[in-house]
Amino acid sequence: MPHKLYLHPTSPSQQHLDTRLIEDKLLNLELIEQRFQCQNQTHFYAGNRFVELVIFLGCSPAIEFTPNSTEQVFNGEGFCHIHLPPPRHQPILIGGDTNQPPRCPTCRTNIDDWQHLINANDIINTVHHCKKCNQQHTIDQLKWRKTAGIAQQFIEIWGIYPNEAVPSEELLSALRQLSQNEWDFFYV
Ligand SMILES: [Zn+2]
Repeated sequence: MPHKLYLHPTSPSQQHLDTRLIEDKLLNLELIEQRFQCQNQTHFYAGNRFVELVIFLGCSPAIEFTPNSTEQVFNGEGFCHIHLPPPRHQPILIGGDTNQPPRCPTCRTNIDDWQHLINANDIINTVHHCKKCNQQHTIDQLKWRKTAGIAQQFIEIWGIYPNEAVPSEELLSALRQLSQNEWDFFYV
């Protein structure tokens, strides 16, 4: 699977926005432009202002924005593009890395058994009880270290490696204004 940068509202149970509103905003900002079909879903090519809105941290990253073959278009690999999945009815957790487990926000102990404590059907009411500091936290309060996010709505930016690029303040602030909610990001 291609690496992805995910953006999402920070309040997992917040009422989601109409995906069309997000699409219009991202078109206006020129983060995205034309649509294409990838894995039987609608994706968008990166727009003219993509590299101003998503800041690459390396000195001269070699980023591809155009596919080299119909195979790349079909499987979505080898270039940067954007997908706006329809909102979920319930918050879900995306990501999670067994090599980089989440930490307790109070005492910073690694939570190695995180996969066992997650009940996908009721993720916002799942509570982790830390054996070390005796505090309780909801799953979204754990320190996921940019490896996972919990939300009903996500923006997927395909073709970005972990920590290779970050959303700009302009992009985050536009999303914040649109949704009246803070946004965060992580990598898969
Ligand atoms: Zn703790």
